[in-house]
Amino acid sequence: MNLLPFRKLPAHKPRTFVPQAIDLGDWAHIAPLFDQLEERAPQCQSATDLERWLLDWSELSAALDEESSRRYIAMTCRTDSAEAEKAYLHFVENIDPQLKPRQFALEKIYVAHPQREKLLKQRFQVFDRDVKNHVELFRPENVALETEDAKLCQQYQKLVGSLTVDFRGEEKTLVQMGRYLEEPDRALRQEAWELVARRRLQEAEKFEDIFDRLIELREQIARNAGFKNYRDYAFRRLGRFDYTPEDCTRFHDAVAREIMPAVRELQAARRRQLGLDKLHPGHLRPWDLAVDPQNRPALKPFVEVGEMVSRTQKIFDRLDGELAGGFRRMQELHLLDLDNRKGKAPGGYQQNLSESRVPFIFMNAVGQQRDVETILHEAGHAFHALAASAEDLYAYRSAPIEFCEVASMSMELLGNEFIEEFYAAADANRARRTHLEGIIGFFPWMATVDGFQHWIYTNPGHSRAERAAAWLELMDRFGGEVDWTGYEAARAHLWHRQLHIFLHPFYYVEYGIAQLGALQVWANSKRDQAKALADYKRALALGGSRPLPELFAAAGCPFRFDAATIRPLIQLARDELAKLS
Ligand SMILES: [Zn+2]
Repeated sequence: MNLLPFRKLPAHKPRTFVPQAIDLGDWAHIAPLFDQLEERAPQCQSATDLERWLLDWSELSAALDEESSRRYIAMTCRTDSAEAEKAYLHFVENIDPQLKPRQFALEKIYVAHPQREKLLKQRFQVFDRDVKNHVELFRPENVALETEDAKLCQQYQKLVGSLTVDFRGEEKTLVQMGRYLEEPDRALRQEAWELVARRRLQEAEKFEDIFDRLIELREQIARNAGFKNYRDYAFRRLGRFDYTPEDCTRFHDAVAREIMPAVRELQAARRRQLGLDKLHPGHLRPWDLAVDPQNRPALKPFVEVGEMVSRTQKIFDRLDGELAGGFRRMQELHLLDLDNRKGKAPGGYQQNLSESRVPFIFMNAVGQQRDVETILHEAGHAFHALAASAEDLYAYRSAPIEFCEVASMSMELLGNEFIEEFYAAADANRARRTHLEGIIGFFPWMATVDGFQHWIYTNPGHSRAERAAAWLELMDRFGGEVDWTGYEAARAHLWHRQLHIFLHPFYYVEYGIAQLGALQVWANSKRDQAKALADYKRALALGGSRPLPELFAAAGCPFRFDAATIRPLIQLARDELAKLS
């Protein structure tokens, strides 16, 4: 039974190494291919032989990746199907654990290979650097520690997921409580906000315990790998060869200097629009930040998902013929599953089908402006996959996250230029405003979360009180004009709710870096739309074959996050906001 939204996809290339009839859900079929690659490696006598070997390895990795993706897609599109769940779990439990050590063995063979030095430098530089890095960082004694880390992360998620509050006689999850912060009734918002803040604070000790143990583990992992602190280890582990901790600190400084004035200005406008300036004391409070400042009803961009798709198609038709063709092809191949329905997993994602070399988009659209932002965003990722599909080296068909998000965030900004496909003029401007305000408001939070982690991992042995003080210092610097009087404890522990700090250490600044790239692409398109789009597409086609600064340069963006780079971009956003109001 086919549980996938799409039927048979056209093969991008006929297989030359992986047998046509293989069962990729059966380890007994897969293992011999890894054996063959291991046995063949010593026989590679030239760079050409080694390249052939790499491409065969690539073909196998892509086929396995696609098998895993297909099972994941089927499971998320059909959560009510026991068959889909079983197939997915079978892969996760029986194939994945066997796969990882075999892939790592091939990486080690590659790094030690005598022909490796003879590979064309320009072509293999990035691949070589990444594989070598991965092999060099591996320590057998860290495997158990990483398992321990993963278990603590799971405890964090379980704790967060278990929290509920009793709101006006009904049990609600914290996610469900989020929508009350958009209610026009201020007293209701405050009640909802206080309830959630108090509930989180009740668990503060548990969050702190989990985090203390995570820090201890991570410091040990870093020491085992020969690093003096976990920050330096994490930078290497995340493959950050093209920027340093100092660059991140400069980024934080630039946010404080160049972006905070805009944030304060927007907060002051919000305060006036909410009528708080007529109250005493008329400060903006933590529960005043998500509501529409003019108390308007939510935007309604569409009713049916089919309408969302056809209007999105029209946006791309107006933007660029080639991108529009890609989106049309995705519809023809049924590579979109977008409607919210029973028996479907929550959330949204874009997944590459690595062997067919086509993207798939999953989301749960219900008719909100957020859905329009999501489809534009995920389409940007999909365009990236389509653009890089001619690349034969599997590792190069995807780029580092810092640039992947340029592809998607640029598409939000470029697509918004034609958002009239969804709205009349006034609502179109309101949608653009909300989007731009969101972009500006993200930077200070990014700087807070990132700066906090730099502090955490370069101040070993710190106490909980010192940690809270470091957080509060960042909140003072990047929080703007929000009055937390009476809620000091909630403010000091606000970081408990940012799951990246627990689950994905140091993984956050990427979004800030990418957002600058996206703003630059948008700025370029204001000057010369055809050139900006041509650069964008050319950069996407490079996939992950070049280092970050070159990917950014190809897209027409400097790979810098200092004040001089940020200033004109924020100015553009502010000018645009002024025009839209
Ligand atoms: Zn994304």
